[in-house]
Amino acid sequence: MKKFKEPKSPNNLGKLLSVCLFMLFWCQVATPASEDTPSSLIEHAAFKAFVDKIISPKKIDKYLKYFTSDPHVASSARNNELADFVLKEWKSFGLEDVHLAHYDVLLSFPEEIRVELISPKKFRLRLREKAYPEDADTSRPEVGIPYNAYSLSGDITAPLVYACSGNPQDYDLLEKKGINLKGKIALVRYSVPYSYRGFKAYTAEKRGLAALLIYSDPQDDGIARGPVFPHGPWGPLSHIQRGGIPYDFIYPGDPLTPGWASKPGCQRIPEDKALSLPKIMSVPISAEDALPLIESIGGPEAPEEWKGALPVAYRLGGSQAIVHLKVKMKNPVKRIMNVIGCIKGTGKTEEIILVGNHRDAWVYGGHDPSSGTACLMEMARALAEAKKAGFKPQRTIYFGNWDAEEFTLTGSTEWGEEHREWLRKNLVAYLNVDSAAAGRDFSVQAVPCLAPLIIQALKEVKDPSGKTIYSCWKSEPSKKGTIVLASGSGRIDPLGSGTDHTVFLNHIGAPALNMTFSGDYGVYHSMYDNYYWMNHFGDPGMLYTAALAKIWSRMVIDLACSALLPLDNENYAQELERYLEEWADQHDPAWKKSKNLFFLIREMKKRASILTPYVLNQKQIDKESHSIQEINRLLIEIERDFIDAQGIPNRSWFKHLVFGCRYTYAVLLLPSLTEAAEAGDEEATIKALRLLEGALKRVIAKLKKAAVLLNK
Ligand SMILES: [Zn+2]
Repeated sequence: MKKFKEPKSPNNLGKLLSVCLFMLFWCQVATPASEDTPSSLIEHAAFKAFVDKIISPKKIDKYLKYFTSDPHVASSARNNELADFVLKEWKSFGLEDVHLAHYDVLLSFPEEIRVELISPKKFRLRLREKAYPEDADTSRPEVGIPYNAYSLSGDITAPLVYACSGNPQDYDLLEKKGINLKGKIALVRYSVPYSYRGFKAYTAEKRGLAALLIYSDPQDDGIARGPVFPHGPWGPLSHIQRGGIPYDFIYPGDPLTPGWASKPGCQRIPEDKALSLPKIMSVPISAEDALPLIESIGGPEAPEEWKGALPVAYRLGGSQAIVHLKVKMKNPVKRIMNVIGCIKGTGKTEEIILVGNHRDAWVYGGHDPSSGTACLMEMARALAEAKKAGFKPQRTIYFGNWDAEEFTLTGSTEWGEEHREWLRKNLVAYLNVDSAAAGRDFSVQAVPCLAPLIIQALKEVKDPSGKTIYSCWKSEPSKKGTIVLASGSGRIDPLGSGTDHTVFLNHIGAPALNMTFSGDYGVYHSMYDNYYWMNHFGDPGMLYTAALAKIWSRMVIDLACSALLPLDNENYAQELERYLEEWADQHDPAWKKSKNLFFLIREMKKRASILTPYVLNQKQIDKESHSIQEINRLLIEIERDFIDAQGIPNRSWFKHLVFGCRYTYAVLLLPSLTEAAEAGDEEATIKALRLLEGALKRVIAKLKKAAVLLNK
């Protein structure tokens, strides 16, 4: 039985090897299949086994070394060189339609940043990270000035206050203590767990502060957590978390083209009309630089929970410490380049599976994003090799290597906006990996219909310890000798914002996921997030990045090859019910307003359950007699039914009625409904409920239609 066409002319060793490998693995996997295993499943398994054999940790390591060999911020010569490199590699793999998709977008760079304590003593902040002889990359001059992209320019001298994480309730407490905030400079800590720094800027701007200094307290990601770089994964005292502060929770992408693509010559709004641009100065600083500021700040003692791990008394400030701050930024419109390529399907070629990762980094980008980029490269190579060996995905697989994600999710957003209609029609799912591995714990955030796809992949791929990733993911952390074994939450979390899936899920309405292996990581967006860090702490030997490449490839293969799309709407309905219960507990405990919506969600669950056995177990499908193509079309359209063209109130770019993001990037479930109820706006709450009911009715109608088609 021969399922796959061999390459026509295996005229070189690589091709020959591919064919041999393919035959070997096809035989291994195909043989044990039982009588009733349909050929499509055997093809899947052989395809996956072939890809597993190609994926090489050594090759990934080589890519990582190359991508991290120099700093490569968006629009820099090096980052553009890397775009060319990706382009050439993808062409050499045999990907099709490989091209650069470029956009001219507003970026943000520092010309001069000066921060100094004027009184009670004089101290000029170093604003640079310390070099270590163990790692030559830490002493290179190209590292540049750490900064917050899209900070306002200005020159001020003002008193300093300490505002803990810079959340609204932190400022409330300062005001309660009689500390006036107007025109002052706030010193705040980066948040653990992560909360987007742009939210800190937004909050400070709204509260009338003049500027923000954001530092990393050693309690959160430094010495208080464990050994620091170059001896451990945590951040040394001088590490600085760079990063953008735009308000991309209002709209991401080029601040001057909200909702449309930044093609050369397109219409642009003036900077002062751009709602995503901050109107406040902000500078990221190290704990080392924060220390003399906190020492001098004076004022009332800070609450216990505001105190960090620096050896000083944390105080709230207000008048004693005076800081001079000068920030001179330039915001040029610069060209950025996504690299796009595909493997064309052989059946439903218009249906697209999209995978992506960003390329640009604040400095070397060891973990974020180059581990992800190396992972993407290896997956692309493996899938292309498989195609050469005769494997045929039914659907077309698109690869996106995004640019300028670090600024404001720019490259993916512009591309998504440019191809909005095509993607709305054809995008089956978007699978994102930003950073691949900083440890051993698998974590994933996803739209619930992707759950079976995730679980299947995790059950099939093994952890380097020999257990499946699935069983590690479900287990508590444990120790074997000195090695901490892989573990995980065992949960699929809902998806917020903060990386490149945003346009595809929240704007276009495609099922999406983001995944990584996480672990101790205290050097985020600092120059220490580099090859040395990855090689010593993040993923020595690149075994977990390779495991992620296998997981990612499997998901792509299942989506691209399954006769019936493996999208589980019964699980979607179940999760929706849970989201609504959580909402109702808080805002509608008697279920008065939400009764109808609960009823519709249960109806969705009931209707979807008819499809579930077919979706979860492809072997029951009779491709000949079932109208599979029509059912697949309905399954693709279901996620789009949750899109409201008007968007959520005050943030019309975000159009998904189930998944949105808080200003911190955290997930905001049922965004219009939740925000309306939190604001106590009865009319808006009822409107949001009606919109959700409308979406559910559309979904139910499609599920009904699909069930009829199945029984044909
Ligand atoms: Zn990233």
